[in-house]
Amino acid sequence: MRISDDRYSRDRQRFDLALRFIHHEARTRTIRTWTGLTDDRIRKLYRSYIAAGSSAKVARHRGKSPRQSAYFTRSPRMRHEAAVLASVCYLLGVMPATQVADAARHLPGMQRGEALCEAFETYRRLVPEPRISFEHAVFLIAALACGDELRAAHCIDCNGLIVVDRLAMNGRRCLACEGSPQGKFGF
Ligand SMILES: [Zn+2]
Repeated sequence: MRISDDRYSRDRQRFDLALRFIHHEARTRTIRTWTGLTDDRIRKLYRSYIAAGSSAKVARHRGKSPRQSAYFTRSPRMRHEAAVLASVCYLLGVMPATQVADAARHLPGMQRGEALCEAFETYRRLVPEPRISFEHAVFLIAALACGDELRAAHCIDCNGLIVVDRLAMNGRRCLACEGSPQGKFGF
């Protein structure tokens, strides 16, 4: 009895997480990797999600997930958004404590998936007109965790967390410090 109860609650958790991923327009492959559900179950969930009228306009993405680290560093605005998202991810325990070589494979899991949804939802509340998609958020945490292309660093003026290209690690400032005349807030 207990075993089936446990299994039921684990399945329930997987479905809940998959629904959250669907709500954030994650790709089927991403949902499968993070929840362990089969494509068939994800398709059924997706259909019931639409049928329930939760959001008729949720886009379903197919094909490959985003793979460009330059996306996060190409403009001051994107650097700022990436910094906000990364900060929340660190705070909510989405990021592993140490660097992970094959992060895309080792990060996915139920607990981290729930924390990632929490972080992504928080980021969307903090940033007006947020531009980073959920799929890009998944890429960002994997890229930061493996550290090959992107790394988390500290602004040299205010010590705030910033996301930088691995090759441009030193002497970087956050958006606020970059924009002010002395490179500081004035205190
Ligand atoms: Zn700063």
